[in-house]
Amino acid sequence: MNTVCVVGASLAGLLTARALRGQGHEGRIVVVGEEPHRPYDRPPLSKDFLKGAIGEADLALEGEGGEPGIEWRLGVAATGLDAPARRITLSDGGTLTADGIVIATGAAARRLPGTGGLAGVHSLRTLDDARALRADLRAARRVVVIGGGFIGAEVAATARELGLDVTLVESGPAPLAGVIGPAMAGVLAGLHERRGVRLITGAYVTEVTGTGRADGVRLADGTHLPADVVVAGIGATPCTGWLAGSGVELGRDVGGGVLCDEGGGTGVPGIVAVGDCAAWYDPALGRHHRIEHWTGARQRATVAAATLLSGGTARPEPARPPYFWSDQYDVKIQFIGHPGEADTVTVEEGDPATHSFLAVFRQGERPVAVLGVNQVRLFTRWRRHMETAPVHTG
Ligand code: FAD
Repeated sequence: MNTVCVVGASLAGLLTARALRGQGHEGRIVVVGEEPHRPYDRPPLSKDFLKGAIGEADLALEGEGGEPGIEWRLGVAATGLDAPARRITLSDGGTLTADGIVIATGAAARRLPGTGGLAGVHSLRTLDDARALRADLRAARRVVVIGGGFIGAEVAATARELGLDVTLVESGPAPLAGVIGPAMAGVLAGLHERRGVRLITGAYVTEVTGTGRADGVRLADGTHLPADVVVAGIGATPCTGWLAGSGVELGRDVGGGVLCDEGGGTGVPGIVAVGDCAAWYDPALGRHHRIEHWTGARQRATVAAATLLSGGTARPEPARPPYFWSDQYDVKIQFIGHPGEADTVTVEEGDPATHSFLAVFRQGERPVAVLGVNQVRLFTRWRRHMETAPVHTG
């Protein structure tokens, strides 16, 4: 294989490029990235970077000496793909033809419809988003966060730590309920309330109000919540529009993610996909599954590189259950597994009231997910157990 083109210059793209070199690829590696920035780490954008505790230099994902042997094409988007010819069309009018292609275009934050021209309305996915939000928070007094997924919950926590008046509006029963299930999410909701966040659950925002600049949001029941800054944490969608009609298969059930086998192969020879944009087949679950977490991108980059270099003959290790962490206030939340498979949840250690506990989700006798809240050591043991005895359903 001579030239490999990696599309997406972020975590999954960079780590796959590194893994290709590590696994002996000596040809060209060209990384195309829509953002003008060199690869940076996103998790701090909603935490320490937003708080002002760290700067932009601290976000760099590259090592000190950069990444020797990688050619960067930054500020340029892939706009189309001819998959059989492995030819990529670029937003600057150029094309790139490669022997191997890595699709690593991640996901983009959903924006609130109809708020395009309104200042003070934010979503958070990119460094530019974080710069803008950070600047606006400095001048704000009241913030409304829409959506209690982990980005919304983290932004709410950070804004409280900055001393702002924060309201979090969530359509479900509690923040993070969609991720860790309603029972444990209910426990964590208390964390926000204790830190002074006003939580409004089971509520829908119908409108962001204001002329020129947001001055609040209106809920479906007519309530108006005043705000200087409105942050939408309403999910992300895979950046796969450029693949439409290319021959690479996208899955409706996985939000438009790229359908891959258990090694990241797309079914088109010489093309793999990895990271937030990719839905790999998980034999343990018996379906494709898109993981939108840092560790998923990291673990799968090595596998995707092996798949590409072997022409699809490398045998991937069994899939590990998805793992993520979230930092809110001084609390570290860690989670591994598939909570949707569970029929019971039991607290095995600590006390939820003190926000230091570990809970195990079981299907019958079998653990299918584990939640650790400020229980790093015990969680690490459970994580090892879950990774060596992965979830099998049915
Ligand atoms: P991305 O990081 O989204 O990168 C994709 C890149 O591809 C982007 O730079 C994009 O501009 C580029 N691109 C898109 N389309 C094109 C195109 N057509 N042509 C060229 N380039 C393109 N995970 C955790 O586990 N724990 C956390 O605490 C956590 N915190 C987070 C906080 C924030 C604010 C965010 C946004 C994410 C967080 N995550 C966290 C998730 C984690 O950062 C992602 O899972 C990870 O970034 C995925 O990496 P990726 O390379 O697949 O995608």
